[in-house]
Amino acid sequence: MALRTLLIANRGEIAVRIIRAARELGIRTVQAHSAADADSLAVQLADAAVEIGPPPASKSYLDIGAILSAAEASGADAIHPGYGFLAENPAFAAAIEQAGLTFVGPTAETIRMMGDKVAAREAAARAGVPTVPGSQGRLDSVEAAREVLEQTGYPVLIKAAAGGGGRGIRIAHDHHEFERLFHQAGAEAKAAFGDGGLYVEKVIHRARHVEVQVLGDGERVVHCFERECSLQRRRQKVWEEAPSVSLAPGVRERLCAAAVRLAEAVNYRGAGTVEFLYDDESGEFYFIEMNTRIQVEHPVTEFVTGLDLIAEMLRIAGGAPLSASQEQIALAGHAIEVRINAEDPASDFMPFPGLVSDLRIPGGPGVRFDSLLYPGYAIPPFYDSLLGKLIVWAEDRPRALARLGRALAELRVEGVKTTAPLHSALAADEEVKAARFHTRWLEGWLEHNAAKLKTTEEGAG
Ligand code: ADP
Ligand code: ADP
Ligand code: MG
Repeated sequence: MALRTLLIANRGEIAVRIIRAARELGIRTVQAHSAADADSLAVQLADAAVEIGPPPASKSYLDIGAILSAAEASGADAIHPGYGFLAENPAFAAAIEQAGLTFVGPTAETIRMMGDKVAAREAAARAGVPTVPGSQGRLDSVEAAREVLEQTGYPVLIKAAAGGGGRGIRIAHDHHEFERLFHQAGAEAKAAFGDGGLYVEKVIHRARHVEVQVLGDGERVVHCFERECSLQRRRQKVWEEAPSVSLAPGVRERLCAAAVRLAEAVNYRGAGTVEFLYDDESGEFYFIEMNTRIQVEHPVTEFVTGLDLIAEMLRIAGGAPLSASQEQIALAGHAIEVRINAEDPASDFMPFPGLVSDLRIPGGPGVRFDSLLYPGYAIPPFYDSLLGKLIVWAEDRPRALARLGRALAELRVEGVKTTAPLHSALAADEEVKAARFHTRWLEGWLEHNAAKLKTTEEGAG
């Protein structure tokens, strides 16, 4: 049955994005918000709003009971979790279904399996999808890792089974370091994710991050091609593109087919992303994880395929089958997204919340700005620093880069520092133009170009 009233259990730019899609589908929206977000753009745009608790996320956006009460009080029949917060929490999905409401996403069982990165590796291997060489199952001691370490050699990554958002990954360069980090990583994973489970992966050097967007309705799965997210800082994505610029001939077909195989194996329902590392020298790709939710960088896929992924999620949650067959999904042009964070890139990305005294939003052909900003908005200090995303589309990558530079020059966020100057510098960089990068490339670039960012920023006013 088509959804009638949707509660948005998230905040920021993704809440705004979900409200927009719901409204176009004729679905009433209720924004669940903390006390710190009473004046947010999402609250202003939604049909109704319910306060769910005080500013700390643990007492609001992560409070399952408070969110369910808000859904009940507002007459919602469905809940969209966005990304982060409870989006990949199987207990949340289960509680929603138990209350007789619809969770906009996969089943609690799928989330539980894929959210456990060790179980997901096993599911990928069973589906015939290549995984990064490493341990099988969870490692409960340093001794248990000995055999794997002989195969992988050093350096090696220690990863938390429940990790996410670039957190819960350590690199060990020798056995001493491994022993020390292993115990530390287990304790920290337990504290941060409530699960101390660890596994080990070989380091794929100079890899690219390439991920495949999938959509499933519980019966059929289609892919919406890939995104490349190799420009990262501390294992977090900074800049994303679609399609990937680095795939050798034939790799796209194999990569997308592998992602569909894995999603089919779990009868996937909703929007999901299968992430891979790609070695462009050997042409090999390796599964790293599946995210069972909408991703921050979904708009680049929307630009190159013409699909509305949030609308697809809402339709599927309402019981409709996929609206497009695989043959109907085609790639056109090139899209780039840059994350605009309230951080000062010239001062080691120090968070910079504050009052946005004035705002100029870029526009024109092929430009999209998904954000939580409005002039006079006071950015609260309690949450993620993502203010929004600037996304551009053009016929090809060189034109998309030119358009990105042009749109960034139009953007003005007065009163706070943002990562926009970093993106302006990257859009003009020769290596970026040639797409000669890998997941550690940006960190090296930042070491050499921090000074340049300072100048750019002061010049940009
Ligand atoms: P994407 O995979 O969509 O690029 P990110 O990895 O940047 O997304 O994460 C999106 C948001 O979700 C960020 O705010 C990030 O901190 C948060 N996040 C992702 N995974 C987890 C997790 N397991 N626990 C807590 N927060 C998470
Ligand atoms: P998260 O759940 O935090 O998103 P991922 O497993 O997706 O963690 O990895 C995040 C990033 O860390 C990747 O995009 C990549 O840059 C780096 N990374 C992860 N695994 C490996 C690996 N085996 N070798 C090299 N880099 C890796
Ligand atoms: Mg990931």
